[in-house]
Amino acid sequence: MSDLTKLTIAGARDALRKGETTSVEITEACLSAIEGAGALNAFVHHTPEIALEQARTADARIAGGDAPAMCGVPLGIKDLFCTKGVNSQAASAILGGFKPEYESTVTSQLFDAGAVMLGKLNMDEFAMGSSNETSTYGNAVNPWRRGNDDTALTPGGSSGGSASAVAADLCLAATGTDTGGSIRQPAAFTGITGLKPTYGRVSRWGIIAFASSLDQAGPMTKDVRDCAIMLQAMAGHDPKDSTSADLAVPDFEAMLTGDIKGKVIGIPKEYRMEGMPEEIEALWAEGIEMLKAAGAEIRDISLPHTKYALPAYYVIAPAEASSNLARYDGVRFGHRAKLAQGDGIVEMYEKTRAEGFGAEVKRRVMVGTYVLSAGYYDAYYNRARKVRALIKRDFDEVFAAGVDAILTPATPSAAFGLGEMAEADPVQMYLNDVFTVTVNLAGLPGIAVPTGTSANGLPLGLQLIGRPWEEGDLMNTAYALEQAAGFVAKPGKWW
Ligand code: GLN
Repeated sequence: MSDLTKLTIAGARDALRKGETTSVEITEACLSAIEGAGALNAFVHHTPEIALEQARTADARIAGGDAPAMCGVPLGIKDLFCTKGVNSQAASAILGGFKPEYESTVTSQLFDAGAVMLGKLNMDEFAMGSSNETSTYGNAVNPWRRGNDDTALTPGGSSGGSASAVAADLCLAATGTDTGGSIRQPAAFTGITGLKPTYGRVSRWGIIAFASSLDQAGPMTKDVRDCAIMLQAMAGHDPKDSTSADLAVPDFEAMLTGDIKGKVIGIPKEYRMEGMPEEIEALWAEGIEMLKAAGAEIRDISLPHTKYALPAYYVIAPAEASSNLARYDGVRFGHRAKLAQGDGIVEMYEKTRAEGFGAEVKRRVMVGTYVLSAGYYDAYYNRARKVRALIKRDFDEVFAAGVDAILTPATPSAAFGLGEMAEADPVQMYLNDVFTVTVNLAGLPGIAVPTGTSANGLPLGLQLIGRPWEEGDLMNTAYALEQAAGFVAKPGKWW
């Protein structure tokens, strides 16, 4: 078979089962694609020995007739997942050289299902960012370009390496995590599909924490079917994560019928932002038409507290981050600063944290500590929590009134140039998350599906938001949208 790296998970599964190729062959093809793609800076730790070992084991399993869907499928793993004996640094200097003694639940479930790990993927430091520019490894690069313009573009963030690697066919799929949009925004910027599951669907155990009440891992794949297959392997109850839900995991792939007749799709008027580019408006309108043509009922809805979502998120996420990141003190993990004569433990903490954290992480720790401080707790943190409850209630009411899914743009623009936001106010960068953070605040599942291209040829995505625990139904609607949109464009290879 040729073009093995272009395979989807489903395509690889079927080819492997029929004996048309082997996992070792696909894995070798991916490893050589990765070697040739240094310019994308997507893979930051390479694990070819582990990959080939896992591929040989997978081939033996397949030969023995024991071939779960992910068996033999080469993946990239976001650097936020702890992988036993392999650098897991959350793209931060403070975790320099950190090799966990344990495996995250998600990666161990994927490995049990036979998946192969090619290496670890670039991301924003501690998953804080929307452009992959806060990474200690330097930014990942989007394989897409604007027409003939060779400006390097962001793959989005924080799961920028995952998005770049999948879009450039360096791996068949990748893991991502999403606290405020970090799976969906990079998926939209690179023309791939990314799902953030319902909070509690996937175990957070062994994933380096950013904001624990918002963090959720999910699949980043070439299409909706692959999202269903990969989520199946990632999801499930885990006693090691107290917020993991003790619910059965349905057969998600079997739910992809493409039949959405009679489904009610809500269009929230609050997502029609002032100054939104014309082409995003147009894309959204086309998406509405596609779902209508597929037999769905379109209903205008209101989510009145949407405008408070971004400010509430940027209080809650930094508050939780400042607490989660307190553990990086130079004692237990990764980097420790060189100390001068007479330095004590306080100097060790201070110097280690000053050296180890990047500017965005420091900003979040300061904001978080401030909003949690005695004098401001009620004014900021408690208020943000109340706003969060109202945002969730908006969604609850809409779903109770019979809406099955909500359609919105995934991002307010196409991928922007690396460095273009460097001089901007940080709030400009935070605006990237305007359509995605509500979903994390409410704990809902959301999926970004590539549905069109911008005037200069970049991919654009729409987001579908579903009822809690109904990822199967949500992916089926996404599948109908995918079929209607027929997005097949690929980036031209320049790297
Ligand atoms: N861009 C958002 C932030 O910087 C979301 C990041 C994420 O989802 N991890 O917080």
